[in-house]
Order: sequence, then C-alpha cells, then structure tokens
Amino acid sequence: MTDTQTAPSAGGTATAEMVEHWIDGAPASGDSERTGPVYNPAHGVEQRRVRFASTEDVDAAVEAAARAFPAWRDASIAKRQQIMFRFRELLASRTEELAAILTSEHGKVTADALGEIARGLEVVELACAMPAYTKGEYSENVSTGIDVYSLRQPLGVVGIISPFNFPAMVPLWFFPLAIATGNTVVLKPSEKDPSASVWLARLFQEAGLPDGVLNVVHGDKVAVDALLEHPTVRSISFVGSTPIAQYIYATATANGKRVQALGGAKNHMLVLPDADLDLAADAAVNAGFGSAGERCMAISAVVAVDSIADELVSKISERMSRLVTGDGTRGCDMGPLITREHRDKVAGYLDVAGEDGASVVVDGRDPDVDGEPDGFWMGPTLIDRVPTSSAVYRDEIFGPVLSVVRVDGYEDGLELINASRYGNGTAIFTNDGGAARRFQREVTVGMVGINVPIPVPVAYHSFGGWKDSLFGDAKAYGPRGFDFFTQEKAITSRWLDPSHGGLNLGFPQHD
Ligand code: NAD
Repeated sequence: MTDTQTAPSAGGTATAEMVEHWIDGAPASGDSERTGPVYNPAHGVEQRRVRFASTEDVDAAVEAAARAFPAWRDASIAKRQQIMFRFRELLASRTEELAAILTSEHGKVTADALGEIARGLEVVELACAMPAYTKGEYSENVSTGIDVYSLRQPLGVVGIISPFNFPAMVPLWFFPLAIATGNTVVLKPSEKDPSASVWLARLFQEAGLPDGVLNVVHGDKVAVDALLEHPTVRSISFVGSTPIAQYIYATATANGKRVQALGGAKNHMLVLPDADLDLAADAAVNAGFGSAGERCMAISAVVAVDSIADELVSKISERMSRLVTGDGTRGCDMGPLITREHRDKVAGYLDVAGEDGASVVVDGRDPDVDGEPDGFWMGPTLIDRVPTSSAVYRDEIFGPVLSVVRVDGYEDGLELINASRYGNGTAIFTNDGGAARRFQREVTVGMVGINVPIPVPVAYHSFGGWKDSLFGDAKAYGPRGFDFFTQEKAITSRWLDPSHGGLNLGFPQHD
C-alpha cells in the first residue's frame, strides 16, 4: 500500500483504492477476500474499499502485538515518554491532513473535524503525563522493618473497537494511554471510515513507536469476535451502540477479559423558566446539530418547562433557519449522514412523529444543500410535543433531529430524565444555583452540564455514562483510563537486619 492509498480524495476513483490493515509496522492485506465500501458521504459515492479481516488476520495482528510486548513493557519510562511527546508534536503539526480524511470519509465539516482532533490530542498530552499517574504508593515501616509499596504494570496485548462517529478521537481516547503504560494494541476501527486509524498508526511509527506496538485490523463482526475470543488479548475497550456494547461486554467478560464498553445515548437538556433562553437556544442548536447529530453527547431531547416552551421553540427554529447543510469542505455548518441507509432511517422518524401526534416544526427531509445532489443529506429537524411513548423520544436516532418534550417543572423534568435507560450526558439550563446543585446530585447520568450542553470532561477527568451507556465499571481516559490499562501489584518487603528471625505460624500482624 502506498501513502496515497489512505490519503483522502475528493470523490470516486476509477479503480477502487484499498484500505489495508496495519500489522507489525507495515500495511498488510491478510488472507481474506472480503471487503466493504468506504463512501464519501457528501458525494454519495464509494471512494475506496476496506479489507475485512479474517480470524487468521486478527491472529497475525495479536501475534505481532504479543511479540512487541516484552521489549515495549521493558522500555524505560523516559523512552516511552519521549516517543509520546514526539507523537504529540507530529499530530499537532498535521491536524489539517487528518481533518481532511475525517471530512472525506465521515462527512463532518472541517471545523468539527479539527475539534475532534483537538479533543484526541488532549488525551495524547495526558498520556505524556503517564509517570505521574502510574507511580504507585509507598508505606514505610508498616511493621518493624517492613515496607509495603505498589506498582502499576501493563496488561499485555489490549484490544480497542471503535465507532464511526469519531474516527480519530475515540481511538485516541484509548491507545495513547494503553501504549504509554507499556501495553501493545490491536485496534479495530469502524469499517465505515477506517483510514484515520491507519494514518495515526503510521504517524506514531514516524514518532519512533516500535513495530507491532500499535496494529490496526479492519472489518466487521468476524474481526470483532476474533478479538473478543483471543486468549492473548487481555482487555477490550469498546465504544458503539448499546446492543453491540452489551454483546461485547458479555462475550469478552465470558472470555476472561477486562472490559469497558461504552454504549449509546439519548441526552436531555432541561430548561427551567429562569434560564437565559438565548443561551439555551444557542446550546440546543449547537449540541443538537453539530456533526449532524451523530455524537454520543449530542442533545436529542430538549425538556422545556411548559411556561417558556413556546418562546424557546421559536428561538431554536429561528436559529435553525440560518444553518447551512452541505459539503464539509465548503465552510458549511453541518455535513451529511454517514450512509444512505442511515439517512433514510433518520428521515423515517418524521413519519413516526406524525403518526404519534407530535408536531413537526422544521422538516429537514429535503434540505437546500451546498454540495453534490447525491450526498446523504438530512437537514436540521425540530419536533415539538413529542410523546414519551413515541419511538422518536425513546430511540437513539443519531441524526439531526431535535425533540422537544414539555414538562410542568423541575421535578417532572428530573423524573423523565432519570427514567431513561441511557445515562450518558445531560444538561440543565437555569440561573438558579440551588436548582443546578439539586440537579447535579439527583440526576442518574454520568456526565452533567450546568449551562453547558456537551459536558465532555477534559482529558484529566474520565469520560463515561451510567446505565445502558456504559457496561463495566471503568470510564475512558483520565485517572480511570490509566487504571484500566494497568494492573496493580502490592509488595511487602523486609531486608534482613540483625533483629530478624524466629518461627511464627500465626497470620502476619504488625508490631
Ligand atoms: P456500532 O455499534 O454499529 O459499531 C461500533 C463498532 O462495533 C464498530 O467497530 C463495528 O464494526 C462493530 N460492530 C458493529 N456491529 C457488530 C456486531 N454485530 N458484532 C460485533 N461488532 C460489531 O456503532 P456505530 O454506528 O459505529 O457508532 C454509533 C454508536 O456509537 C451510537 O450508538 C453512539 O451513541 C455510540 N457512541 C457512544 C459513545 C460513548 O462514549 N458512549 C461515543 C461515540 C459513539
């Protein structure tokens, strides 16, 4: 494979380029004939194909990672840290190149792609601080002449499986911390936009990462199952939809692995009557339609107290009329959806809304577009008075569809949010500090914003939801990320001195 085979192109090509696996520091075709399409969603055309790994291809990647592990584990902290710093510098200097790949395969607009990379870069910077997070603890003289201390050591070969919606950021949530702490990695990115992962692996090699430490295999369930069942793989970090997260958690734990499986979401934004409604309307539009709603932290349900709901809906719809949907390379606000099939599924919820008695305020099914006519377009959509029994409210639509649910007051809104099966993110908009404080205590959601619509924690806090938004007890990145990728060892030591000796069969006690 040449560099151009993973470089972005403006549209379809006469002969299909192939996105290959990256195993042991080099492109690898593997032995599988199965491939899948990679679209340019803004053009509606297949621009390249991606190799789908067989079980044997995954085995080859795991074996490469296993071979690389002993030397990488034993590399000094100073050496690993220097490579992390070089990776950070290279990535920071080439963000536009990566953003072009994201826009080309995912469709998100350039500014959003750069934002995604910036949030991934934060985690690389956190990984550079690995020595401070993994240095362990020491208690001197716990008993006469005896010291106890703890070490954090890497797990070995770890697996990462990522979704389509953040092709760079989600892999970057995991592999920098895994690698900085001495593990070796097999990453299976989404088959829908696979090139970013290979680009990152190649860049890491340029930064000095030894071959085999970071491997990328592409594919579908066959590749995922091979990772979940492989006896050498010690842990699985998964991000994707809830049904698949449940499957990953059940299968990988049954195979004895440590698992963090982040699932889907349905994020509510509660707007109280004393809120700044302009701020709330800006926030609802930004968080509802950024990345065409294909974000796990998107706001998909505005929960408005009835007394201000009409005014809020009118402010939101006025702002929506100013949004430009189109090709992400042209400075638009919002790009296309990932596939035609997904676009049609999202559009189908407008029919459901009509049948369920909701009122469609803005219909995005036939948007004016600044882009090619065949792109997978769906414009911003606003649906008011959505019944909570409707699939429009219950399902994770994962598109530019914002629902408004009206409630009587705070208690009603809180009850609604806490009844949701999901608990990824939520926000409250209010100028009442007491109400905000109650909300942060009472809401059963893992990440909470107070007058902040997308409360994605910075890299040195950890990311993750509650309930059906996270399976396993370890959140991503931050302190929990370092914990996940290391195992603790406690050492009790005594160096002999003249006072030692004597037999004592009792359980050790301290004196
Ligand atoms: P997805 O669940 O379809 O796919 C995620 C990964 O699982 C991909 O690598 C895919 O190849 C693999 N996969 C798909 N079907 C599989 C199967 N049957 N068996 C084994 N593996 C399978 O998710 P997606 O559509 O790529 O991404 C969107 C979803 O991810 C949304 O639900 C979104 O909320 C969620 N997400 C969650 C977070 C979070 O932090 N909680 C972040 C980003 C995305």
